[in-house]
Amino acid sequence: SDPFSSEVKPRILLMGLRRSGKSSIQKVVFHKMSPNETLFLESTNKICREDVSNSSFVSFQIWDFPGQIDFFDPTFDYEMIFRGTGALIFVIDSQDDYVEALSRLHLTVTRAYKVNPDINFEVFIHKVDGLSDDHKIEKQRDIHKRANDDLADAALERIHLSFYLTSIYDHSIFEAFSKVVQKLIPQLPTLENLLNIFISNSGIEKAFLFDVVSKIYIATDSSPVDMQTYELCCDMIDVVIDISCIYGLTGDDAGSPYDKESMAIIRLNNTTVMYLKEVTKFLALVCFLREESFERKGLIDYNFHCFRKAIQEVFDVRVKVQRSRKLLSQR
Ligand code: GDP
Repeated sequence: SDPFSSEVKPRILLMGLRRSGKSSIQKVVFHKMSPNETLFLESTNKICREDVSNSSFVSFQIWDFPGQIDFFDPTFDYEMIFRGTGALIFVIDSQDDYVEALSRLHLTVTRAYKVNPDINFEVFIHKVDGLSDDHKIEKQRDIHKRANDDLADAALERIHLSFYLTSIYDHSIFEAFSKVVQKLIPQLPTLENLLNIFISNSGIEKAFLFDVVSKIYIATDSSPVDMQTYELCCDMIDVVIDISCIYGLTGDDAGSPYDKESMAIIRLNNTTVMYLKEVTKFLALVCFLREESFERKGLIDYNFHCFRKAIQEVFDVRVKVQRSRKLLSQR
């Protein structure tokens, strides 16, 4: 059985004014589009676009706010949608005037909070690629202050907003998404623990658990993450999937470029080895280790086998608990 049925997937809503960059984010993060190609994305008139990518660990939906359409239209069941949402990402175009975006943000957050106070509110200050570092910090400070002042004026200081500086032209968008998704995974401490045990018993320096399709890492061991390592992992996943698409699928084989057999080893020129292995249908483990440690590959593979079993149990238990809760609530 598939332990990641839709009911347990983290659900994310992506919102923001038209042209703020929502479709581009979706295409780049979930559909491997290159950032330059987003320049040619067609503008749509739909308010709501569902992305039912069954291939990813995360499921999410996009909502547009084309000024004239009232999003609180009674035919639009926003209450039901907010209730089923784990995180609401609001995208603000930092290269544009953001007065209207801020007022939409305020309206959206206050409405959503009334329906579901457990939603995580995540604000992406987007398209920061054109800005200098000083400028980025200044923008973030300004947007942060204005948004929180608006909440304070409405006596809603208890609503917490998190801010991220993002761009589709570098890895910042993947990093921000990783953080958003990690907050939605209740088993995160267990996953981190399992990763810690796995790496210390195997002589591995760093390990990430990745959603292969989106390149979002859903967990890592407790040693600090550096951007370069993360970027290398993303590149490795791209290489593995590309090679597999080109050479791995034979003839009329309609299989997936990523399956139970998927694994790869890349030796970097600084005596580091990168090791990728399949964990579940959506997840892969990517490890960094020294060449000497890799000599004990048998031990690593044995430990990996135990790690993989534990991970599958963690997610299986979650499904069982959810199912029994559902049964109970139907009585
Ligand atoms: P949507 O209406 O919110 O879905 O916005 P789109 O995804 O259609 O994006 C509008 C424009 O913004 C497109 O021309 C994109 O190429 C551009 N864009 C999106 N993200 C970024 C970014 O991170 N940096 C820059 N410079 N442009 C971006």
